[in-house]
Amino acid sequence: MSILIKGGRVITAADDYVGDVFVEDERISLIGESLDVEADRVIDARGKYLLPGCVDPHTHLDMPFGGTVTIDDVESGQTAAAFGGTTCHVDFVIQPKGATFTAALDEWKAKADGKQVIDMGYHMAVTDLKEGGTLEELASLPDQGITSYKLFMAYKGAIMVDDETLFRVMQVAAQTDALVMVHAEHGDAIDVLVKQALAEGKTEPKYHALTRPPETEGEATNRAIQLSHVAGSPLYVVHVSCRESVEPIARAREAGWNIHGETCTQYFFIDYSYLEKPDFEGAKYVYTPPPRDKANQDVLWNAVRTDTLSVISTDHCAFLWDGQKTMGKDDFSKIPNGGPGLENRLHMIHEFGVRAGRISLNRMVELLATNPAKLFGLYPRKGTIAVGSDADIVVFDPSRKHTISAKTDHSRSDYNLYEGIDVTGTPELVLLRGNVLVENDELVASPGIGRFVRRAKFGEELKGGAAVPA
Ligand SMILES: [Zn+2]
Repeated sequence: MSILIKGGRVITAADDYVGDVFVEDERISLIGESLDVEADRVIDARGKYLLPGCVDPHTHLDMPFGGTVTIDDVESGQTAAAFGGTTCHVDFVIQPKGATFTAALDEWKAKADGKQVIDMGYHMAVTDLKEGGTLEELASLPDQGITSYKLFMAYKGAIMVDDETLFRVMQVAAQTDALVMVHAEHGDAIDVLVKQALAEGKTEPKYHALTRPPETEGEATNRAIQLSHVAGSPLYVVHVSCRESVEPIARAREAGWNIHGETCTQYFFIDYSYLEKPDFEGAKYVYTPPPRDKANQDVLWNAVRTDTLSVISTDHCAFLWDGQKTMGKDDFSKIPNGGPGLENRLHMIHEFGVRAGRISLNRMVELLATNPAKLFGLYPRKGTIAVGSDADIVVFDPSRKHTISAKTDHSRSDYNLYEGIDVTGTPELVLLRGNVLVENDELVASPGIGRFVRRAKFGEELKGGAAVPA
């Protein structure tokens, strides 16, 4: 199957030109002006953008958490991703306490089997080095294409690790060229604040934020930065939400340390006041770190503009408001933490980043596709439009209007964080390795078309095809 996409405006992290793109055997094989080649299908992309398929390095599909399981499984979550122009994501395997990493990985792969709509990889979230996996086993993962380790510095009594575990994993990562990812919050202090709030009868959703003050994020971010520098491992701080954690990342990067940071779409748009919505509606916005004071939104836009933060992800961790979030009706600490978002990252960042003049189209592509692909061992196979890259291409109509709504999106969640927001610009056709995934608002491909992708090690020099299918 070959496809010739004619006359689109090709936008990568570095380029912006009008050209034809020829796709053959799942890859881009030719790019040029007015290409004269035979193709099985010709797509007229005049007036449209050709963007590389977006890469989301932070999602949680089919994950047991907070006494329930996230509502989107691999099929529904990846379908939502495809409609939103995301063609590859990296999900988290959460090591069950006492389980080996291999057993955990097998369990997660089984959940995805036959359901994959887009390509995917995994991070390994380490929760237990005492009874389950060993450091030796952890060290073997990068050779299997699992090239990042995640640690939770919060959620005490559940998946939080102590500083010894954090530091030992950083030392392993320094040896194996894996990237260490941290959820940075001071879990012990938060645990005290939560218990005190509940003892005082403070049970509403807003106390989720009031018991997790921004200083607890800033402290843990700085602790992880300092420890990773001692251990000699690269570090990636997930879901940065506030000035208190942007500042230590900025300092470390100015010093030339190997520190990287991500924020998520929702932190630009949802602020603390959403948690105060009446009739338990605030529970929709209970995710972690919590929505912050509005002043942080400009801090985050500045941080992504100046490359203090290098990636925008979704942290898609969807639950039903009615039936799952309501588990915490009388106790905010029992509200499952997380929100949907996989489908709307490109919509929102294009509208309020690019169209509002905050970032360029090139920078949008860099934040949503190229940088995550580079940091997580997928580039240049993913994250750009170039000869030899996978033909993961979004034909994006910059003038088509779209209203975001849970009624029309593809997540199984019963609400959308951006309900009712009108955007101008939406994916019109989405290709995964040259296969049409989405066209005319329909999912064209069948589940099973997506693949697990072995990722390269951190900083590994990638040649074409270095990240290969398992
Ligand atoms: Zn997360």
